[in-house]
Amino acid sequence: MPDVRPDYYEVLGIPRDASAEDIKKAYRRLALQYHPDRNPGNKAAEEKFKQISEAYEVLSDPEKRRQYDQFGHAAFGGGPGPGGGFTGGFGGIDLEEALRTFMGAFGGAGSIFDDFFGVGVEEEGRGESHRGGDLRFDLEIDFEEAVLGSRRELQLPMLQPCPDCGGSGAERGSGRERCRHCGGRGMIVHSQGFFQVRRTCPHCHGTGEVLARPCRTCRGEGRVKARRTVELKIPAGVETGSRLRLAGHGEAGFRGGAAGDLYVVLHVRPHDVFERRGDDILCEVPIPFDVAITGGEIEVPTIHGPARLKIPAGTESGRMFRLAGQGVRNPRQGVHGDHFVRVRIEVPQRLSARQRKALEELRSLLEPSNYPEITEFQRRVDRYYDRKAKLEA
Ligand SMILES: [Zn+2]
Ligand SMILES: [Zn+2]
Repeated sequence: MPDVRPDYYEVLGIPRDASAEDIKKAYRRLALQYHPDRNPGNKAAEEKFKQISEAYEVLSDPEKRRQYDQFGHAAFGGGPGPGGGFTGGFGGIDLEEALRTFMGAFGGAGSIFDDFFGVGVEEEGRGESHRGGDLRFDLEIDFEEAVLGSRRELQLPMLQPCPDCGGSGAERGSGRERCRHCGGRGMIVHSQGFFQVRRTCPHCHGTGEVLARPCRTCRGEGRVKARRTVELKIPAGVETGSRLRLAGHGEAGFRGGAAGDLYVVLHVRPHDVFERRGDDILCEVPIPFDVAITGGEIEVPTIHGPARLKIPAGTESGRMFRLAGQGVRNPRQGVHGDHFVRVRIEVPQRLSARQRKALEELRSLLEPSNYPEITEFQRRVDRYYDRKAKLEA
C-alpha cells in the first residue's frame, strides 16, 4: 500500500527541526484540545487524537524519529520501504485502507491555537469551512530519475471536493436553518459536579446554524473520497530524502475550505553500476590485466553516456580516475559534480595450456626491477628478520 497519510510533523504542527521540548509542548497542547473526554461523540476529534498520539510516539523517540525522517511512514511497515517491492505502479492500493488513515486529517498547522483556558472551541467552531489536511506520500524512484529528472503521474486516493454540491455540503437549492440542538447559541452547558462546563455544540460546531438539507453524496462534508491524478515533476539532482511540495494538491477543505498541500518524499533505489556521493558519481570498472600493464584506452559508462578513459601503463588495481564535470547537476547551484572511475584489475581465469605456457615464458623474462613494490617489500622483510635474529642471538 502506498503511503498517503498526514505527515507527523504536520499533525503536530511543528517544523522538521523541532526540538524534543517543542514536540512535547505541541503534543500536550493538541492532546488537551482533542482529548475524547472533552469532545464526546466527536468522531473527527477522536481520529485526530489518535493521529496526535501516533505522531508523538514516533517523534518523541529519537531512534524512531530518525527512521521516520529517512524513510517516512514506510519505516514502520505498511508502506514501501527503501528497496522494497514497490514498483512505482499503484495497482495494489487498498483505497479504503489508504483513506481511513487520513479521514480525520485536520486543518493544517494554522488550526492550532492555545487552548489553555479550556474554552474547548475547535477550529470548525469558528467558521464554516476549514482547510484540508496536508498529506505526505513516499515515492520510490529509479537512480536515473533522481539524477536526470523525470515526470510521474501519480494516482492518489484522497478527499476531493464533492462534485454534487460543489464543496458547499448543502443539497442543491437548500440553505441553512437554526441548530435545534443548541437553539442557535452554538454552545451547550453541562454540569459536572460543582462546575458548569460550556462546550461547543457538536451539531453546528458553534455556528448556531446547520444545513437544512446536507448533500447526500458527501453527507454535508463538501468532500468525498476519490482518486486524484497528480502530475509530478521530479527535478534533476534530487536524492533520497528530497521533499517536493505541491501546494493545494493535498486533501480538499471541509465545506469548500482551501485544499491542503501534498508533500512527496523521494527514496532513490540503489544502482547496480553507479554509486552516488552527493553530486559525484563513483563507478568501479574491471579492466584486463594486460591493459593495466601496457596501458590503453577503455570505454566507461557515465550517467551522461559512454566516455573514453586513458589507462596509463603500469596502472595498479584500485587507482582512481576523475572525469571532471561528468557527475550530477546540483539542482540548487546548477554546477555538475565529477565522475570517478576506480579500476579493478581482473586476472584471466581458466587458462588453457597454451595460455599458461605463454605466461610462464613471460615470467622467465621478468626481473626484480619490473616489480618495484615487491622488491621494496622484500627488502623490508629481510631487514626485519635481521633485527629479530640479533635479538634472539
Ligand atoms: Zn456534496
Ligand atoms: Zn448547535
